[in-house]
Amino acid sequence: QKSQRLDKILAHMGIGTRKEIKKLVRAGRVRLNGITANDPGIHVYPDQDELTVDGIPIHYREHIYLMMNKPQGVISATEDRFNEVISDLLEPEHRVFDPFPVGRLDKDTEGLILLTNDGKLSHQLLSPKKHVPKVYYALVEGAVTEADREAFASGITLDDGYETLPGQLRILNSGPVSEVEVTIYEGKYHQVKRMFEAVGKRVKFLKRIAMGPLSLDPDLEPGEYRELSDEEIEMLK
Ligand code: URA
Repeated sequence: QKSQRLDKILAHMGIGTRKEIKKLVRAGRVRLNGITANDPGIHVYPDQDELTVDGIPIHYREHIYLMMNKPQGVISATEDRFNEVISDLLEPEHRVFDPFPVGRLDKDTEGLILLTNDGKLSHQLLSPKKHVPKVYYALVEGAVTEADREAFASGITLDDGYETLPGQLRILNSGPVSEVEVTIYEGKYHQVKRMFEAVGKRVKFLKRIAMGPLSLDPDLEPGEYRELSDEEIEMLK
């Protein structure tokens, strides 16, 4: 990788404007390889040099890709006036990239959410034309039946008249509380809950376990996240 000016790298990472970065440097808050930087124009090799702002390591790259196991009670947005949002769960070293969630999960839904600042990839994954599959694990009140499975497979008419694409309903366990896996190819508001409502059933618990080729890492507890591997990023593109 080529060397680049320190202020350019930091500006690119959203640390501030060039002018603000100059101030940070003057204030001694930026360190290069452990030594306080005193020149905003100094050249840095992003892949070799260690850069910190207020002691927070800055790993320069353009895009960041995170998978999070969203916990219940947290909003899948970057800002909300009243509720905790997923950006609040990020470490400062990831937050500087301003990643945003690819799509939404309800406040009470947990599971896989991808965060990135790669607008192009986000757009591709959310494009209604692409029909990217999303897989959910759900607990549903009452016995889920073969008739429900067939109804999902032929497409469901939601309360507002919208006809969903065919979805797959896999019944893992049918009983007073049924355990199922649902695959859908769109992302209408409250879609899974409303598909069950349309067949007279209520979702008690919902967790997304996959999106396109990406599965939720079982090691991630609710609220935890990790960066995607290079292979995972390639699969998504
Ligand atoms: N379907 C829902 O009803 N809620 C979600 O959060 C995701 C899909």
